[in-house]
Amino acid sequence: MLSVVFIVFLMGLAVGSFLNVVVYRMLTGESFWRGRSKCPHCHRQIAWYDNIPLLSFLMLRGKCRWCGQKISWRYPVLEFLTALLFVWWLQVGTLFFRLTQPPYTWVQPTFWLVVGVAFLSMAVVDLYYGVLPDVFTVGVAVVAFLYRFGLTVMGIMKLEDFLLYVASAVGASFFFGILILLTKGKGMGWGDVKLAFAIGLVLGWPKTLVALVLAFLTGAIVGIILIISRKRSLKQTVPFGPFLVVGTLSALVWGERMWQTYMRYLGF
Ligand SMILES: [Zn+2]
Repeated sequence: MLSVVFIVFLMGLAVGSFLNVVVYRMLTGESFWRGRSKCPHCHRQIAWYDNIPLLSFLMLRGKCRWCGQKISWRYPVLEFLTALLFVWWLQVGTLFFRLTQPPYTWVQPTFWLVVGVAFLSMAVVDLYYGVLPDVFTVGVAVVAFLYRFGLTVMGIMKLEDFLLYVASAVGASFFFGILILLTKGKGMGWGDVKLAFAIGLVLGWPKTLVALVLAFLTGAIVGIILIISRKRSLKQTVPFGPFLVVGTLSALVWGERMWQTYMRYLGF
């Protein structure tokens, strides 16, 4: 079992490393198929032994072998988080993935792994570049819609539940759209609207609401800490994507329980 965990961890590292390349080339506009990675400072090609996920970063102590410039923390962080996600997915799988109808025996675990990887990438990319690329936001929305639609067609999910997922998506993105219009686009962007739509289709009701509340709470707390510690001024914005991602992943795991506790507290 331990060896399986280790192999899955290594697979996660490899996928995380691949995501780094995808994100970098997507945002710099470089052709995706154009040869080996280069150092963004001295433009030397990175040898395979300097390109091993996690290990190379540690061995090089976060600096390019040739020019000594710092390598972004984004690389090892995304690699490590993806690897952790893979291991967590493996552990949680036996409890969580219950669909026994083919092809959902493999579609269900694959769907959640893809969604997890996309959400991690969004958190890191928005934190680092301040954008939420459509590949991830619209991509997750399309994949989640097809997944839910497929479940409904197969009779695994009820039509009213499917409609509740769609309504959660529309409601969440509508809410963000109004927020943008009210604040004239300060802080939130249309990427957040698309992400909110995707979250609705992934989480449904009431977990979408839990995710949004958690995102705003953590966002407010971190924002206040940054302003008090003078890392940010009131006029500066903090990307909201990472908070939406943290809120979504938390709501996915604890959302149902949190909602029930809250409802009991209200006396329902
Ligand atoms: Zn260099």
